Formats: sequence, C-alpha cells, structure tokens
Amino acid sequence: MSKTIIISNRLPIKVQRKEEGLAYETSEGGLATGLGSIYKEGDNVWIGWPGLFFEDEAEEQEVTLSLKSQSMHPVFLTESEIKEFYEGFSNETLWPSFHYFSQYTVYDDVYWEAYQHVNRKFCQAVMQVAQPGDTIWVHDYQLLLLPAYLREAFPDSSIGFFQHIPFPSFEVFRMLPWREQLLKGILGADLIGFHTYDDVRHFLSSVSRIIGMNTAQGMIDNGYRQIMVDAFPMGIDYEKYAQLAASPEMKEKLIPYNEALSGQKVILSIDRLDYSKGIPARLQAFELLLQEYPEFREKVTLFMLVVPSRDQVEKYKQLKETIDELVGRINSSYRTISWNPIQYFYRSFPIEELSALYTVADIALITPMRDGMNLVCKEFVASKLDQKGVLILSEMAGAAKELSDALIINPNDLGQMVQAMREAMTMPEAEQQIRMQHMQDILKRYDIHQWVSIFMNRLEYIKLKQLSLA
Ligand code: UDP
Repeated sequence: MSKTIIISNRLPIKVQRKEEGLAYETSEGGLATGLGSIYKEGDNVWIGWPGLFFEDEAEEQEVTLSLKSQSMHPVFLTESEIKEFYEGFSNETLWPSFHYFSQYTVYDDVYWEAYQHVNRKFCQAVMQVAQPGDTIWVHDYQLLLLPAYLREAFPDSSIGFFQHIPFPSFEVFRMLPWREQLLKGILGADLIGFHTYDDVRHFLSSVSRIIGMNTAQGMIDNGYRQIMVDAFPMGIDYEKYAQLAASPEMKEKLIPYNEALSGQKVILSIDRLDYSKGIPARLQAFELLLQEYPEFREKVTLFMLVVPSRDQVEKYKQLKETIDELVGRINSSYRTISWNPIQYFYRSFPIEELSALYTVADIALITPMRDGMNLVCKEFVASKLDQKGVLILSEMAGAAKELSDALIINPNDLGQMVQAMREAMTMPEAEQQIRMQHMQDILKRYDIHQWVSIFMNRLEYIKLKQLSLA
C-alpha cells in the first residue's frame, strides 16, 4: 500500500523539556489542521524537526518512538545547523530576498553549505520511511532543494511542493548566487504550488530565464517530465473560527474587553515581529490620524499584538526597538488620564483570546509590506458573525487577491492608510455587512480542507498526465 508523506521544517508539535520528562503538545496551526486529515491516516507520516535539541541518542530514540505513535517522524538538528540553515540561510538569505528586502539579504557560503547539508538530512529521513510509489508533499522555503534530492532517490514518486511565502520577481531572485541550484531543487517536484498567480508568473519567468526551460501555460518540460505550476491560495479552518466566536464562553470572555474599550472604536493589529509586516509604517499612519483628525482622539484605540519571533536575528532586535520607541512616543504624546491610544502587547495569545479580539474589533488593520498570504485577516473575517467590521488590507498580501471587498491600501502610502481608517470608522453598517458577506462566502467555500484536497487531486492529475505522455 502506498502512503502519503508530508515534510516541513517543523513538525506540528511542540516538544518541551519539563521536570517530569519530555512533554508533547500538538500544534493548532491551520496547516496542521488541514493536513491532519491526511497524515494521521493509515501509514501516512509527517516528517520534520521537533523543535528541541536532545541530550543523547537514547533521548532521541525515546522521541522517535513517541512521535511514531502520533504519525510523525523526527529530523534531529544540531544547534549549529539551526543557526546556519534555519536562522542563517532560511531566515537571513531566502526570507528577506523573497519578501523584497534584498538590502537585508546575507550572502554567506557557510549558510549555503549548511542549507544543502540539512536538506540532505531531510532526504535521508524520508528515505528511512518512504517506499517507491509513495506520494510526497514538501512544504516551504526551508526545503527548496529537497524535491530534487527526493527525485534522485525515488524517480517515480509523486512529489508535490508548496511555497508558503512569495516568490519574487526575476530581477530580485537573480541576485541570489545560488539561484540556479535553488530552482533545480524545486523542479524535482511534479506539482509546484504558490499562493497567487503573481508568484507563479515570477517563478516561471525565473525558470525560463535562468535555466532556459520551456514554460508554456504553467507547464514546464524538463526533457523527462511535465511539471505543473499553479496557484493554490491557502484557506483557513473557517468553521473553527466561526464556532469559537459563537461559543457560549465567548460572551464571558468579551466582558473585560468591552469594559476596557467601551465607547471606543477598536482597530486591531496582529502580526509576528517581522520587517515584512509593515508595523512601523502602520504606527506612523495611526499617529498621523490622531494628529490630523483630533476628533478621533479618545474615540479610537489601536490594539496591537506583536508575537515574538526570530529575536536572535539582529534585524528583528532592531525592529523591536523601533516599534517600542514609536509606541512610546505616540502614547506619551496623545494619552489622557482615561485613554491610551495604543494597547501594545509583545507576546503570543491563545486562539480563544485571539477569537475574542477578532470579535471585539471594529477594524482589522493588516498592512504588510509583503506577505505570502496572511491568515490573520481571514480569521478576522471568519469571526464576524454579525458581519459588522471592516478589513483594511495591504495590496502586498496574497490574501488581497481574494478579499477585494476589503479596503485595499498600499502600505507605503501613509495618507491612504489614514483615509482608509477614517472611511472604516464611518462606514455605514449596511455596507460593512455587504462587504463582509462577500468575503465570508469566499473563505467558507475555499477553506483549508478544500485547499488540501485540491492540491492532492492536482498532484494525482499531473502524474496521470505524465504517464499518458510517456
Ligand atoms: N497567531 C497565534 N497567536 C498569536 C497571534 C497569531 O497563534 O498570538 C496565529 C494566527 O492566528 C495565524 C498565525 O499565527 O493563524 C499567523 O499567520 P499569518 O499567515 O498571518 O502570518 P505568518 O506569521 O505566518 O507570517
């Protein structure tokens, strides 16, 4: 019996070292939920790093056994591998390049060596569990070389690859010294997926200009196989967010929020700490709103969550300082005895608390400079049971392609963001509901389960097509 193997940098689990021993906490992330229907069935398995360093082989064996019972298989990484492969090449080379922050890109051969080495390590882990004929689905930018390594080991397997971050235009991608190897790595797959058609176009143009392969109509002919490239905009677990918002506990959860924020329009901002998210510009736009339109003072609160992330990387430390300073400046300039313009939290929140915030917010202000998709904006929309609320969304987020009923803004245009906030705060309820209804229809129809099943069906289709052409 053939099986399906999912591979991502991190396993959908958090292993933690506690006094009483190792503890396993499963992840609630959207991808884990969507793929849950696959990897937990039969002999299927999810391969990835368990997120912790272990003391010795005995401990690694214990982890391997325990994960096996949960349909997972670990790839153990050392501290220096994490530093050079993950923090280094993945997050200081690929991440900035692919998000159009080329000026932040670190070009370092040591990182590149580690990236190749760890991708090989993932390949070896797959070889321990895979049989010829299995279906393999590789996820994201940390594993761009893996599809080609797997192709060598399993020439006939169905291999899918999905990239969760943008694929940049050729002019940006070409700056990477390892551009050709990276493309050839991805091209080991039979089906290559991105969130948007723009990413698909950029990828195809890089393949044709850097490798010289023919790329007509989303199909690449590498001389041996037809490879399909297409857009699969990732959805969310819509029902989960709608149900959380409707749950009986929600009413109670909302009481402290409603008390603290009564009489206020609430603008919600949620992101990981990342320069791609456009947080400083968003704060500047909010400051401008208070400066230019004094009538909004004491009438609006920016509720801003920043989730700590990659804080070992220098650029992220600097960003944190910039945000702290801006928040401090705005709050100290405009606060009154009874009002603080920005409620700022630097920590992560559990999903029930996020759901309460989505429910309580009048406006979600999601203004990334660049984002592969952005799921927070979709979760906000799914949580709006009464359909009241306005989404302000950056045109640079993949989600903007689907959510055209949001107020779409350019995150570099502070004036436009200010006007969008004004419009959102004064938008008639009937208009809010029409826009929200359209967005909810789209997100309900194309949820995370649909996304998984469409990708898997397409992979099956391209494999059959290859056979029919052979
Ligand atoms: N999230 C969370 N806790 C928080 C804030 C956010 O679990 O305190 C989740 C949020 O619900 C969303 C994800 O983190 O599902 C962020 O995904 P998104 O695509 O918006 O951005 P990314 O961080 O992947 O760039």
